[in-house]
Order: sequence, then structure tokens, then C-alpha cells
Amino acid sequence: MAKFKYALFYDFHTLATIPDVGAKFDVEAFTDQVKACGVDFLTFHARCNQGSAYYNTKIGTRHPSLQYDLIGKLCKSCTKKGIRLSLYFNGHLSEEETLAHLDWADLPFSPELRTNKANPFYHQVCYNSPFREHMRDMALELARNYRFDGFFFDCLGASDCVCPRCVKEMKEKGIDYTNREEVLKFSAFSVHRMCVFLNEAIRKAKPDALMFFNGRPFEEVIDMESHLECECLPTAGWGYDCLPSYAHYMRTVAGPEKSVLNMTGRFNNWGDFGGLRTAEGLEFDLFYGAANGMRPDIGGHYHPRGDLDLPVFDRIREVYRNMQQYDEWVIDAENDNDVALVYPRYERYYAPASVGCRAAVRMLDELKIQFDFVSEYSSWDQYKLLIFPDDAPFSPEMTKRVEAHLKSGGAVLATSKSGLDKDGKKFTVSSWPVVYEKPIGHDPFFFQPSGKYAAGLPDMPLALYATGSKVKAVKGAKVEMVCVKPYMNYGWDGFRGNYYIPPQGPTDEPFLVEKGNIVYVAGELFAGYHKRAPKQLRELLENVLNRLDPAPKLRTENLPSFARAIVQKKGKKYETVHLMAYCPERRCEAMCVEDRISVLNTKLALRTDGRKIKKVYLAPDRKALPFEIKDGYCTVSLDVFTGYTLVVFES
Ligand SMILES: [Zn+2]
Repeated sequence: MAKFKYALFYDFHTLATIPDVGAKFDVEAFTDQVKACGVDFLTFHARCNQGSAYYNTKIGTRHPSLQYDLIGKLCKSCTKKGIRLSLYFNGHLSEEETLAHLDWADLPFSPELRTNKANPFYHQVCYNSPFREHMRDMALELARNYRFDGFFFDCLGASDCVCPRCVKEMKEKGIDYTNREEVLKFSAFSVHRMCVFLNEAIRKAKPDALMFFNGRPFEEVIDMESHLECECLPTAGWGYDCLPSYAHYMRTVAGPEKSVLNMTGRFNNWGDFGGLRTAEGLEFDLFYGAANGMRPDIGGHYHPRGDLDLPVFDRIREVYRNMQQYDEWVIDAENDNDVALVYPRYERYYAPASVGCRAAVRMLDELKIQFDFVSEYSSWDQYKLLIFPDDAPFSPEMTKRVEAHLKSGGAVLATSKSGLDKDGKKFTVSSWPVVYEKPIGHDPFFFQPSGKYAAGLPDMPLALYATGSKVKAVKGAKVEMVCVKPYMNYGWDGFRGNYYIPPQGPTDEPFLVEKGNIVYVAGELFAGYHKRAPKQLRELLENVLNRLDPAPKLRTENLPSFARAIVQKKGKKYETVHLMAYCPERRCEAMCVEDRISVLNTKLALRTDGRKIKKVYLAPDRKALPFEIKDGYCTVSLDVFTGYTLVVFES
């Protein structure tokens, strides 16, 4: 179990043909810079993706141009300066070692998916090859000879190896090695077995080692890990919708005793030596993470020669010093929510994931709802409202939990196929408002706003931009909105392309149905928002939440949809609202954040939950804000805030 405050992560993947590795590396100057950023945890490479080691090894191969024991110096320096150090190993990629040991390489099932030879992912190692013992022996060699804190094993995703070793074992186990999906499942099993193997060996030698296996499903390996790390460079392939999903989910797996590191990058992508993102872009990622219980971790790639690149440290220091002003209120603060977005975890994913989940996280953030994102892994007991987006099947365990939740007065929102059994045939909860018939069949799919959930919605058939389910309401359920039939579906009728398709008229097919504390929407509301982001779908969600969660933890006025407002608490003394006004923008092929935005006349109302609030102020200067307590809410107004601000409600 490990807790960190500020972290840095360095890539040091270095081609064997680079001639001057370490020539200018001043380890003390480097760690001085690290220390000056207020960093207490550093990850640096013992052995890189290219397969070279950076220490004196009898088992691996030290980089051919490195003239001294770089890791040895770094270990000593970090120990002296009180910086915890994890050593990086790539657990799946190694150019030099696969060139030296051809039988360690994997044999891809689909080589056509691996055609880019100028890429570290071209050379992958089989998890069942002697590479496994080789890596263990290198790790143990380090543990024996050096003083450091732990290991980071990278790139541990399932691959599709069908080398003779893997096929032999698959045959023995009766696995269909001609089916890529089955091969991937076997690989997931193999890589998990390798993690267990490494963990057991390392812990015998170094029982308190920090440990993280990057690329394995968090829930599967958490018991072996000291903490969690969320690798997410929003400007690279991850995008700006990835961190929010992980941020709301990972804390529910880590629990309060293990840090969750929020790894972003000083650059725009891995391997981008010349990239330097703006302080505004970095702080948006890192404040968002901190507001959700994550600790900041900035990734970079150290120049192999050892160039210090001071502007990078200047930028990191600027961002971390900004964040450090809020430590008193933010470090060890918790997110204690009564709404949960729920989705089962599928095999091989790091975390629960679907298009609907991602859109749901975004919509809830835009509505300033305080929520967790959970799977079956964690308890749901604390939540008053459970939201199941679009296609969350119910296992017998989930059914049992939902029935208990309803019985104790909890509320449920489910859309389309959520709540069906694993075969997609039947809703499993006995008090469900509808019976499933079949997929809706309308394409395009419209609905008619009406009834008590239609407040603010245009009075016309509205497009959903997604599909849905045809259902029948049960006795005692109330149909609030119905589906609207299109004249015909999109497609080609043999003569004409059916493209311009108006709504024809309402049907008797339910669109929104309520029964007791369950609201069911027959359309894939969240997938529709993912596709076109229509404000009407978010307004519909807001209307449903106003009914199912009538006294939310936070109410806001005059906060734009792109702004974020996240509530935390720290002990009995502090409740805080993190306000963020940044807006990732698409610029040609890229996404970026360059500016802090000013927001005027914001009003916040925080549910007090019986706390006796003595003062409200803006951190870090403790600038007092007048407040009013009424009907269980403490209300304050901010004339203006720019970028990030922290409002503290002190009891
Ligand atoms: Zn293999």
C-alpha cells in the first residue's frame, strides 16, 4: 500500500545505435530538479522497450554506449534526497532481446495487424517464453544489488501469440487456437500468470516493493499492487473523455489506502522529445484528477545523452507549485457520492467501458452530478441512485444487488438493454417497469416529449441518434413518453435511397416508463449523446435525475456545460468544491487546451448533511465568501473565477 503526493515518470527507451547514452547525464542535477518540483515518487527505466539495461547487469545487456552504472547513481541519489524510486521494465516489448533470442519473440495470429516495422510494438515477446524468467532474474538482480523502492512493469496487454509453446498449452487446455478471441483470452491468462510469477519472486526478495502492472485490468491485479496508475495522455490516442471515466472508477478499486496516479504527459505523445504542453493544458488534467482523488504524475522522455531540458522542469515546477498551494485541502480528500454509474467489467478491459459509459460520464459531469463509476467489484451500498447505461446486462449477482437496493428505497435509471439477462432476452429484476420484446427496429429513432419529464424540451418529435428496445409496460407502470415511428427506415429500397426520413407519428411503444423508483428509457440515450451531443438528451437526463435524486449534493447556477464542479470532503472539517473552466478544443487534427476561461456570477449550493458550516472561503488565500444556509443547503456566489478555483466550506 503506497501513498504519493507528486510523481514524475520518465521514459528512457533508447535505440541501441544511439552513440552517447548518459554522456551528459548529471544525476545529481536531475534529482535536484525532481526534488525542486516537490516530487516524492519517480519512475525511471532499468530496462527499456528497446531491450537495453541502464545498470551493471550480468543477466541483461547494458546499453552499448553507456559507460557507467546510471541506475546505480540514480538509486543512491534518490535515496539521499528522499525520493521514492520505481524501476521500469517493459514486460512485453524488447527489440534487442528478441533479436538476440529469436525463440522469445511471439508469433502473431494476425500479422496483418502488425505491419508498422518502425514501431516498438513490432517486436513483441511471448509471455510464455524464457523471457519471463529472464525478466524475473533481472528484477531480482536489481533487488539484490541496489537500494530502490519497487517496479513498474509496462505494456501488459493480451496479445495473439500462436507460437508453438502457446499452441501446445492451448491444445492441452482444449482452447480453440484457430479462434483469435480464444487466443487473446489465453494470452490474458498467460500475462496474468506472469504477473503472479514476478510478484511472488520479487516479494520474496523485497516484501515491501512498490508494484504496478500497467495494462492489466485493475480489479484483477489490485491485490498484488501497491497503488494504481492511470496512463492517459489526452492529446494522444486517449482523448479528453478517457480520464473522466478512469477518475470516477479507479478510486472505487484502489480504496483509501492506495494512491491512484494520474499520469499525463509534458508532451503531446510518447516519444515526442520536442513537445511541451501548456501549463493550462497540464493543470486541467491534473486538477481534474486531484478533484477525483488522484495524485499528479507527469510523464516525459529523458534525453538519452542526459540533456537536462530545463524548460521542461520549469513547466512541471510551475504546474506543481500551483497545485501545492491546495495541498492542505486536497491531499487525502475523499469523494463521497450517493449516485453511481454502474457497468459490468468485461474480460481483458482495464476498466468497465462502452460508448454509453463514456457519454454518461460526460453528461453527468456536464450536469455537475457527483457520482462514482463502479462495477460489481465494489459495494453499491452507499448509493441512493444507480444508473445503468444502454447495454449493461444483469448477472444474477447484479440482479440480487439491484433488488436489495430497490427494497431499501434506492432509485434506478436504466436505458434500453440494461437490466436484461446475459442472453439479452428477459429483464431480470422482478419489479421492472417493462417486459422486453425485441430491438426497436426504428432507424431513425424519434421520441415524443410529453408528461412530467418533458420540462424544457421542444414539443416536437426528437431524434435519439441511436437505437433502442421495443418493450411493453407492465401493470402499475406509467408510460410518460412514447416512440415516434419514421415513415420508413434508412436504406435502399431497390430504387431509391431512403435518406430524408421524417417522423410519421406517435406509436403505442413506450419510450420512457416509470414504476416506483425505477425510470426506464427504451432508447440508448447515452449512445445518442455520444454520437451527436444533442442538448435535449442531456436535458431529458436532467429531468429524470431531478425526480430520482431530488436533493443532489451540489446545485449550481451560471456554470457553463464545459465547466466542471466536483465535491470532496476531508475529515470533519472540510468540504470543498473544485471549479474548473477549461475547454479542450479540436484544432485541425489535434486536441488541445491553451486557455483558462473566466466564468461570471456562479452560484453554488452545497447540501450540508447536518454539518455546521462556520466559514466559506476561496483557497489558498482564505478569501471569505458570504454564505447563506437554508433548507439544508449552504449557498455562495462567486463574481468571477478563472481556470481553477477551490471553494472551501469549513465546519
Ligand atoms: Zn507464445
